[in-house]
Amino acid sequence: MPENFIHQIIEKDNETGKYGGKVTTRFPPEPNGYLHIGHAKSIVLNFSTAIKYGGKCNLRYDDTNPEKEDEEYIRSIEEDVKWLGYRWDKRLWASDYFETMYEGAVELVRKGKAFVCQLTSEEMKQYRGSLTEPGKESPYRNRSVEENLKLFEEMRAGKYEDGEMTLRAKIDMASPNINFRDPVIYRIAHLTHHNTGDKWCIYPMYDYAHPLEDAIEGITHSLCTLEFEDHRPLYNWFIDEIGWWKTPPQQIEFARLNLTNTIMSKRYLKALVDEHQVEGWDDPRMPTIAGVRRRGYTPEAIRDFCERIGVAKANSTVDASLLEHCVREDLKAKVESRNVVFDPLKVVITNYPEDLIEDVEIENNKEVPEMGTRTVPFGRELYIDGEDFKENPEKKYFRLFLGNEVRLKGAYFITLNEIVKNEDGSIKELLCTYDKGTKSGSGFEGRKVKGTIHFVEKSTAVPVIIREYGYLMAEDEKGEKTLNPDSVKIVKGFSEPSIKDGKPKERFQLFRHGYYILDEKLTTEDEKVFNKIVGLKSSWK
Ligand code: ATP
Ligand code: MG
Repeated sequence: MPENFIHQIIEKDNETGKYGGKVTTRFPPEPNGYLHIGHAKSIVLNFSTAIKYGGKCNLRYDDTNPEKEDEEYIRSIEEDVKWLGYRWDKRLWASDYFETMYEGAVELVRKGKAFVCQLTSEEMKQYRGSLTEPGKESPYRNRSVEENLKLFEEMRAGKYEDGEMTLRAKIDMASPNINFRDPVIYRIAHLTHHNTGDKWCIYPMYDYAHPLEDAIEGITHSLCTLEFEDHRPLYNWFIDEIGWWKTPPQQIEFARLNLTNTIMSKRYLKALVDEHQVEGWDDPRMPTIAGVRRRGYTPEAIRDFCERIGVAKANSTVDASLLEHCVREDLKAKVESRNVVFDPLKVVITNYPEDLIEDVEIENNKEVPEMGTRTVPFGRELYIDGEDFKENPEKKYFRLFLGNEVRLKGAYFITLNEIVKNEDGSIKELLCTYDKGTKSGSGFEGRKVKGTIHFVEKSTAVPVIIREYGYLMAEDEKGEKTLNPDSVKIVKGFSEPSIKDGKPKERFQLFRHGYYILDEKLTTEDEKVFNKIVGLKSSWK
């Protein structure tokens, strides 16, 4: 990570010896969905900061909410963090601290800093006031410490129903910061928790639980997103009032990542999955880490992206084309190319011998000569890309049309002499002739052609399926998002025979089309299914 304001804070702390030179961060997901690219920013920031300062980073499940956790989510989170290239120091569960959190709350009660309240949630809302008006104190606010201790203990013991009581901090109902207006610390919820089972029927609220989790773990720098800036005074208040920690953690906020043409909210993404609007959490259109992984993005590209966007103190929306640019840059020098034709058209080279198949040589990666060459078969009958022929070409069209000569990449010059149609008017085949003397690599310099196209020899061609992806979300001029109805298009094509050896998750540059990956779920020995990763040209400026 390049220098950023968070690292400057850490360096200052290291100079003053605030934490004795220690740096401990954490990534604290709530296991209520799959992680998305926004989480990747937080993961990269937390882990790379720890690495940079020789510190540690924990993976901590923020599982204080018993309703939503799921084993599937936990598995996916760990897979995603590892895939991004990081190893956590400790794997921890916030729920393991329930006892200490409870004791912390008792401490607050003893100090007269918390009370048991019997206002309903509706009443509490009315008492809270607004941004312009102060709130009103709860009639239960001045109970004695003894009564509060007894009631809180009874809350824990299960004597009361959900919603009947809460434990609230006693701070200031007139505070301009609404978070300070006697926030709820504990609520009653008679629910079974995935880790603690039925041991608890009171659960701590996020604003209370999070600072305690950080403090208990010895986190030094607690990095979170900007919407928690207003909660920071409360974060510090809980730790200071409980008073158990000599060098408490400090919360530092950074801007959330937002991306164009997609949506970064677990709740929304979960709805898409539940309503079967997408194939699942790992649908290649999804901005989840599982989705972009299946789509063919690389961890290197995602880390590069996170470094390029950096950390800022102001929210903004990053153009999705920057992420695509990072993916393209990473794949450029890594993957081999293959000849695959989309929406194929048949070409017959009428002056080429009937039973001859010859091998022509093609480079694997134009930019990296060390990646060598491979041979592809050439013969009398070929397929070309549907887009590489036009019956009525516009002015600057240099590919195949009646009477025009083009180069077949790696092979010969051919000229189109006749278009043969089916009865329904569709194209049956294109009759061409080749010039034997123009073979690639033969040193022919007689004349130049403006168009170069690629081909697949017919008798050895392998049928493939290609899934072309658009953005998940469409956006109008105002930036309003709706689901893009055309986010996937299935195309049929033919590949050169070497694709038979292609394995699921293998990436290729499909010559002149872009970067593609063999889908890990749909590709079999007999059927190769490609996902489009990203096109060849960058639209990022
Ligand atoms: P969502 O709103 O999508 O449900 P969340 O913030 O509720 O996300 P958590 O599991 O609580 O999800 O997040 C774990 C960590 O990831 C938190 O520290 C959070 O600040 C961070 N995070 C979540 N979304 C983003 C984002 N878009 N950009 C940067 N960090 C994020
Ligand atoms: Mg959250």
